[in-house]
Amino acid sequence: MAKILLVEDEPDLSGAIREWLSDEHYVVELAETGRQALDKLGSTVYDLILLDWMLPELSGLEVCRSYRSEGGAAPVLMLTAKRSLASKEIGLDSGADDYITKPFHLRELSARIRALLRRPCVAPVVVLTADDIELDRIARTVMKGKTQIHLLPKEFALLEILMRNQGKTMSTDFLLDQIWGTNTDVVADTLRSNIKTLRKKIDSPGKPSLIKTVHGIGYRIETTPVC
Ligand code: CA
Repeated sequence: MAKILLVEDEPDLSGAIREWLSDEHYVVELAETGRQALDKLGSTVYDLILLDWMLPELSGLEVCRSYRSEGGAAPVLMLTAKRSLASKEIGLDSGADDYITKPFHLRELSARIRALLRRPCVAPVVVLTADDIELDRIARTVMKGKTQIHLLPKEFALLEILMRNQGKTMSTDFLLDQIWGTNTDVVADTLRSNIKTLRKKIDSPGKPSLIKTVHGIGYRIETTPVC
């Protein structure tokens, strides 16, 4: 499940994009200004950035240039109402990878995102491993040893976040927000029952669970020791 930073200051548009991409099982974080975007890019690794051109404080172009100059490698897809070829060239020269003009169809946006994420030079870490579990983020498969494990989308998302963040405790609130979104009334019990079914599917009988409960905080997967 790729993690996308959406930088967009129009709430209606950002809401629609966020909902659409969440339904497609992307993890979407929102920044509403150029400054906020740079703060997030400085502290979190994203798989792709959707970047509006006209933003308060700093423009999308300035954000893109600054991100690239700091060594940021994730693909950048610019969103803009500017249609002229000259504008497009400026956008691409700033280090953007692709360009989509508003208004656009959300299906087209998805197609562009998939195309950018498929590029081998920018592909995120594809296969995550923890103990005997291997999770392929592109094929969306999970193997336990040589056996394929079938997970529901939310279980997959949960396992992926925990595997991407091995050694870190992920709080219940963070997981609820990332997987179910902030606008739902899903509660900690739902997360608990998803963890329970996930454990049944991935754990070996009689062995401690791969997913540790950190009481009062959340869940974690320990870093796999290198032998
Ligand atoms: Ca804007």
